[in-house]
Amino acid sequence: MPESAVIIKACAGCDQDLEHCHGTAILHVDGIADCSEDPDCRLTAELHRFVISCAEVDCCCDGAGDAPALAAEQAAAS
Ligand SMILES: [Zn+2]
Ligand SMILES: [Zn+2]
Ligand SMILES: [Zn+2]
Repeated sequence: MPESAVIIKACAGCDQDLEHCHGTAILHVDGIADCSEDPDCRLTAELHRFVISCAEVDCCCDGAGDAPALAAEQAAAS
């Protein structure tokens, strides 16, 4: 049943004692990655088991260059 435990046991990073993280890296538009597991995690996205786009967690920085500008344009037009 504990399939995840099996996966972690088979982790190459653990095996080779590499610097890595079992959390999910949330990759932001600006290239910064947040760790879902550990707020103090400073590892890059590639060192995580999973990487997702911050858009998937409704991060407001997604399309930060577009949405606010669009909203401003619409406000100006009306
Ligand atoms: Zn590991
Ligand atoms: Zn973001
Ligand atoms: Zn991490």
